[in-house]
Amino acid sequence: MSNFAIAIHGGCGVMAKVDLSEAEWIDARADLAKALRSGWAVLKKGGRALDAVQAAVEVMEDSPHFNAGHGAALNAAGGHELDASIMDGQTLAAGAIAATRRIRNPVQAARAVLDSGNLVMLVGPAADDYAQARGLAMVEPSYFTTPRRQKALAAMQAHERAGTIKAASEAEKHGTVGAVALDAAGHLAAATSTGGYTNKPVGRVGDSPIIGAGTYARDGVCAVSGTGQGEFFIRHVVGHEIASRVAYLGETLENAAARVILRDLKPYGIGTGLVGVDAHGTVTAPYNTDGMFRGWVTISGDLFVASHHEVYFIERLGTASGSATTA
Ligand code: ASP
Repeated sequence: MSNFAIAIHGGCGVMAKVDLSEAEWIDARADLAKALRSGWAVLKKGGRALDAVQAAVEVMEDSPHFNAGHGAALNAAGGHELDASIMDGQTLAAGAIAATRRIRNPVQAARAVLDSGNLVMLVGPAADDYAQARGLAMVEPSYFTTPRRQKALAAMQAHERAGTIKAASEAEKHGTVGAVALDAAGHLAAATSTGGYTNKPVGRVGDSPIIGAGTYARDGVCAVSGTGQGEFFIRHVVGHEIASRVAYLGETLENAAARVILRDLKPYGIGTGLVGVDAHGTVTAPYNTDGMFRGWVTISGDLFVASHHEVYFIERLGTASGSATTA
């Protein structure tokens, strides 16, 4: 048994099971497992939860299957504006970027902002420039575009013209990626990265880069990363709300997360989900859509991934940690 754990999500905007080809699912599942292995490798050698969540999110940003980085959703002008954030539960230090267009891995820029020691959030072209000045990989915006997202944009714009937005599938609408982790030193961290929702207005920023809404981590309590229509996550300050229920009401993370996702946000009729991990390494991943790309490695080192109802055991990873590193 280890005393560390990690969980990830690839967004609650998954296709209905019937529309997801077996080949695509196998590929998405492989990328989820790769993201978990990448985060787990950090934790296993005694590394920081902060580095583990960043490593896991980077893998999902590079995958075309999820709405972040390569494969991110297109906005109403057919462009990309990417948001990301990361939070260290030990120090409550956080970094976020929003509406960036050229940073290959937005979570790296969020981390650079966190590491600056004084900033929490940078937006727009200035955030792109900040990342470039720090030597992060920059790309042409077309790098982020995939045929699937172009199809989704065309579908959403057709729904808009026909007044049938409600009939749009969750997969056409949105997605996000995120990771939460507990490290061997007992520290928690969370990170989230997104393209937002398909056909979003230019300049719109959702919950993913908002600390306390789409991303939150606090040692001794929990770490949370959300997915779903961000405006509601911001209004309900979802990450912080869940942490408050755990800290002040003594609820389990599972109950607190289920309460917020399945009850508080229910009246809005929107797709929502999250992953969370508590101070003991217990993981939760509630969602109210057809499915949510997700996965976790438990404290016994078992790696699981899922898209819909069924959960797949992939492998048992080693759990021996090296000497724990504290920040
Ligand atoms: N939370 C993201 C946003 O509102 C989108 C999503 O996860 O579906 O930008």
